[in-house]
Amino acid sequence: MNFDYDLFVIGGGSGGVRAARIAAAEGGAKVGLAEESRMGGTCVIRGCVPKKLMVFASEYPAEIEDARAYGWDVTSTGFDWPQFRTALEAELDRLENAYRTTLKNAGVTLHDARAELVDAHRVKLADGAVFTAKHILIATGGRPFVPDVPGADLAITSNEMFHLPALPKRALVVGGGYIASEFSCILNGLGVETSQYYRGAQILRGFDDEARGHVANAMQAAGIAIHCGTDVLRLEKTSAGIRAHATDGSEREFDLVLYATGRKPNSAGLGLEAAGVLLGRNGEVKVSEWSQTAVPSIYAVGDVTDRVNLTPVAIREGHAFADTVFRGVPTKFTHDTIASAVFTQPEMGTIGLTEEQAAALGPTEVYAAAFRPMKTLFAGRNDRVLMKLLVSVATRKVLGCHIVGPGAGEMIQLVAIAIGMGATKEDFDRTVAVHPTMAEELVTMRKPTRVV
Ligand code: NDP
Repeated sequence: MNFDYDLFVIGGGSGGVRAARIAAAEGGAKVGLAEESRMGGTCVIRGCVPKKLMVFASEYPAEIEDARAYGWDVTSTGFDWPQFRTALEAELDRLENAYRTTLKNAGVTLHDARAELVDAHRVKLADGAVFTAKHILIATGGRPFVPDVPGADLAITSNEMFHLPALPKRALVVGGGYIASEFSCILNGLGVETSQYYRGAQILRGFDDEARGHVANAMQAAGIAIHCGTDVLRLEKTSAGIRAHATDGSEREFDLVLYATGRKPNSAGLGLEAAGVLLGRNGEVKVSEWSQTAVPSIYAVGDVTDRVNLTPVAIREGHAFADTVFRGVPTKFTHDTIASAVFTQPEMGTIGLTEEQAAALGPTEVYAAAFRPMKTLFAGRNDRVLMKLLVSVATRKVLGCHIVGPGAGEMIQLVAIAIGMGATKEDFDRTVAVHPTMAEELVTMRKPTRVV
């Protein structure tokens, strides 16, 4: 049978774009890609990229203060949100264009439309056009999930955070994950009076307990009112803002309520089930280790599969799919030992096992150091950096590393290479320190703090 395309990709985010480009440019495939929103997907348009730029913007007040301690005669007249937002939008336009150009240069045909499956080899665009494809890749990502509380429509999600007409005076962030904690810090840094409600006992569930405690303490010291064990019962519009009735009996008023209570795979209304693709309980597309769905011609990568929902993972899954199917290089992407960073203030970088996970596997040496880094110590701040290594007593391998402090994301990227290679504590010890840095602590911690 002759197909219109060798590959049709639904979704122009990180995973879909990588798969399309490799299949076309390196696999010689005829590729079509449909995107209903803006090219670049969540990461570029409404996630990692604009978020990180907002993190940078929100760090300046503290840096300006520190600059004074270093002898600089600086004064700030305040933050111009519309100016920043305009520059941010221009940067996103630039990035979106870069994505389009890259795909066009690779020979991919772009369709600015929603696409749905008709069957195992056909997709239908919103304008009614139908294309046949030998392979179809579902790379539709995810979307924010907001629980069904009365008044939830008064709240916004991370999607809207980058387009606010003005910064609020008082904000409530609901949730305790990556997105909630990062936006609490951003808002607080930008001068917004920020509260965060989290239903559990401590924010950033799933991360190393000591590290998440360190982040939470620092966030509170920076002025964020974190209310753990607290959830919203209902939201109500008032003349001055939005009143949040909470499970702790409180009623507080805010100008902005941001729900960051997780994300769901974008799998509804795509004709997946009718075509025979299996979905899980959360709506995620079920795939094999090759990212293949229950229908052999249909694959899926990225957040829609709800494996490890991180941009670089989606990229690797998309690349592995294209290598396997279009380049004749069978490639499985394994999802273990993936480093990640949470861009809270302070930042957290993490790889491998938490102390709790390592201890459950066997005797573990814990090396932990919390200290005041020289840059902010000099400026009179009380900020502390945490460096932590978890070492298996049996194998001497470093099983996990957790860093909280400025540049933690950058540091953990490099630690990830060593841990991925199976480095032992003695390998770390043999490494000569780079002085004076914060990261030198990673190679100079000689005695375990405890054995668990
Ligand atoms: P997370 O799953 O990390 O966090 C969701 C939070 O919302 C949790 O604290 C959860 O509580 C809470 N929650 C869930 N349901 C409810 C509910 N019904 N009522 C009240 N609270 C609720 O999701 P995020 O949205 O923060 O992030 C989504 C994904 O995006 C992450 O998993 C991550 O992979 C990715 N991401 C990565 C970033 C990075 O790498 N820096 C940045 C941003 C996102 P509980 O803990 O009790 O379940």
